[in-house]
Amino acid sequence: MSIIRLGATAIALGTLGLAAAYAPATAQDAKRPQIQTTKVEGTDNVYIFRNGNHQSMFVVTKQGVIATDPVAYGRPTGGQDYINEIRKITQAPIRHLVYSHHHLDHIAGGQAFKDAGAVITAHRNARKRLAAIKDPNTPMPDRVVGDKGAISLGGTTLELSYLGLNHSDSTLVMRLPKEKILFIVDTIPVGTIPGRGMIDMYPIETETFMKRVLAMDWERLIPGHPGQPNDRLGTKKDVEDQLKILQVASAEGKRLGQAGRCWEPGEKEFKLDGYEKWPGYANGLPFIARRYCGLWGRGT
Ligand SMILES: [Zn+2]
Repeated sequence: MSIIRLGATAIALGTLGLAAAYAPATAQDAKRPQIQTTKVEGTDNVYIFRNGNHQSMFVVTKQGVIATDPVAYGRPTGGQDYINEIRKITQAPIRHLVYSHHHLDHIAGGQAFKDAGAVITAHRNARKRLAAIKDPNTPMPDRVVGDKGAISLGGTTLELSYLGLNHSDSTLVMRLPKEKILFIVDTIPVGTIPGRGMIDMYPIETETFMKRVLAMDWERLIPGHPGQPNDRLGTKKDVEDQLKILQVASAEGKRLGQAGRCWEPGEKEFKLDGYEKWPGYANGLPFIARRYCGLWGRGT
């Protein structure tokens, strides 16, 4: 599998038809430790916990810890591993766990947090989804929020906002007003072309969602998957870039769909002109093509 270490990882995998699930998503994944915790530069108490190619934010206060997404799907010890990382920094109680949205690759593994005494918060749509799915590795939220919520603990306030349909129907935008930091998972990739996250996303509404995010007061975005290059955080420029990608993709899907070319041969003809060199292009394109062919060719 040495081929996955090549710079052109995505293209190599796409060409060979290998399942990316069995390989690091990028060359940078292959180089770093499985689990890593980093303090966000310029903050007193904001950290990023990363496990593989998934990551989440946690905030440490004197009165306790506010954690988000366990990111333990397929990792039976992942929840406890996360807690162990928190314990290297503080012995304060873990009071809260917030789910970013209902997708299991980000929120499975919360039992260890419940056992540690945390209260789990999610958007109300996440609870509905989870009640239907009954995933044995994903505890139900203890409390839900609607369009607006907040968690205040030890002098820190974490604002929770639902800004409408996007990558899911349950995404909470989390904002630390003092630090001007956002934590948003999956909807706004940083420096990469979107991919599997397109499966159940709401294309038209996501453009509105991104405009609402741009209108908020913030400077740095922590994504649910490390930003490229070098695991960087996002800026408003990244949100503008992603909005543009969706607009270009939507125009391409509309052209093909309204010409009667979806699904075939439109999905094969689908291109994002000018984005060929972006990380994730080869792997992401089929998912983007399917979603926008679905929108403009089927009305779905
Ligand atoms: Zn997701």
